[in-house]
Amino acid sequence: MGIRTVKQYKESLRDNRKVYISGERVDDITAHPVLGLTVDTIGASYELAAEGDQKTRDLLIAKHPETGEPINRFFVTPQSAEDLHNRTRAIHTLMRQTGGLPFGKDIGTDCLNAAMAVAQQMGNAQYEKNARNFLEHLRKNDLHTCGAITCVKGDRSKEPAKQKHPDYYLRVVDKNDDGIVVNGAKIHITSAPATNEIIVVPTRQMRENEAEYAVSFAIPANTEGITFICRNGRGPWSDREFHPERPVRELTEAMIVFDNVFVPWDRVFMCGEWQYSMQLAYTFATFHRFTAISYKVPSVEIMAGCAVAMAKYNGLMKAGHIREKLADIAAYVETLRALADAAASNPVMYGDIAVPNPLIANMAKLHFADKYHDFIKLIQDISGGILATTPDKRDWNNPEIHDYLEYYLGGAAEYSTMERLQMIHETMRHVASHESAFHEVTTVHAEGSMAAQKMMILNEAPMEKYEKRAKIAAGIIPIGTPVD
Ligand SMILES: Cc1cc2nc3c(=O)[nH]c(=O)nc-3n(C[C@H](O)[C@H](O)[C@H](O)COP(=O)(O)OP(=O)(O)OC[C@H]3O[C@@H](n4cnc5c(N)ncnc54)[C@H](O)[C@@H]3O)c2cc1C
Repeated sequence: MGIRTVKQYKESLRDNRKVYISGERVDDITAHPVLGLTVDTIGASYELAAEGDQKTRDLLIAKHPETGEPINRFFVTPQSAEDLHNRTRAIHTLMRQTGGLPFGKDIGTDCLNAAMAVAQQMGNAQYEKNARNFLEHLRKNDLHTCGAITCVKGDRSKEPAKQKHPDYYLRVVDKNDDGIVVNGAKIHITSAPATNEIIVVPTRQMRENEAEYAVSFAIPANTEGITFICRNGRGPWSDREFHPERPVRELTEAMIVFDNVFVPWDRVFMCGEWQYSMQLAYTFATFHRFTAISYKVPSVEIMAGCAVAMAKYNGLMKAGHIREKLADIAAYVETLRALADAAASNPVMYGDIAVPNPLIANMAKLHFADKYHDFIKLIQDISGGILATTPDKRDWNNPEIHDYLEYYLGGAAEYSTMERLQMIHETMRHVASHESAFHEVTTVHAEGSMAAQKMMILNEAPMEKYEKRAKIAAGIIPIGTPVD
């Protein structure tokens, strides 16, 4: 099959999966007012790959490395900086053209690429073969995947084996000749209800007495024992909003419960090798932080654009403090872009797999998470209180009050009031809404908390070298001692 149409993708979701939202079981998620938006968001990426213009298809479709057949770009296991750059370009294009996040193939393949790299490091030919065969399955059927890493974790200060019950971390509860049986729950899983396959990776390092928690595998979404409990979402545009032509984009997260789920051996990528659990979580995190910094660039570009436009509509482009704030905004965006680019240009090779530079990818993720709220504050500051109190589109459309709004809510003379209101609503969505609060939390936690990035930065940064250079400068180590 290679490249599916959006129709084929949607049909594949009518498979009797067990999905709940707001307390109700949903039979056909494609027709649900909230989950349907998630399906459409993912569907847009299928549509562009199958029917986009030639330039877009050249980016979203790659050649199978052995057969030359068309495959989705996300199913190219990166082997060079060029492959990583192409992945970023594909993410940018998807975001810019659909206005949505292309999540799924990217998180899922972040998991699978990590599982492949770690199977090589383990020297486990069977796991490596399983991962490569599974990749062929994804390539051939053009499947949507989600990445299930985060366990519910219970008491964070306690290890998996010391929790109130044994299932706060997903674990293997049985094994036989045919496969393994797993129990537990993964949480916050992006686009999970609309996925074809779930790829599971351990959430943390496991110790010797926690071998049953060191497990990684792939499983179809409609497998018996799997239940998706979804967060609720905003639903389609309302007539209160000034909004663009394109539909709302959503990627509903879900908690996935695995209630004694059977996984055949040929879909298992780790089972009990606790010594490599950290390596798998770490390698996944590196791939995934690179995905994060790739998708974040186009999204913060739009937000920076809101600040520029609002400064213009408010007639403030020449005000000193506004220019200073715009410079801070540009520095935030361009630092992120430069770091994302550097992470792709300086990969670390794990066998034949190019892993984005771990130090730079973590620095980039930390930069965007740590400075995001300050970035938002600058946009709020430039835009004014109207972000909190703006009239809505129903007011605008009511002839009894329309003329007041038209007359009083204008800004600089060269722009129409309507244009200013459209931009106020766009800016509000990004920095003063339920959605923007969601994104603030997402920016801090999704792809790992800031503490997780700092841990990896400490691990990767050349701390000993820094110390040695200081000791030479202080005369503690003699000048002329080799430093590298
Ligand atoms: C919108 C969204 C989408 C997401 N998508 C996915 C996805 O697709 N797949 C997936 O697997 N995950 C996903 N995540 C999960 C994300 O990776 C986690 O939210 C993140 O790793 C933090 O975990 P947590 O939410 O359990 O928070 P917690 O782990 O509870 O963290 C809260 C705070 O406690 C600190 N902390 C935690 N444990 C300890 C400890 N032992 N010692 C000291 N401090 C500690 C953390 O550093 C943080 O500061 C998503 C999250 C969000 C918000």
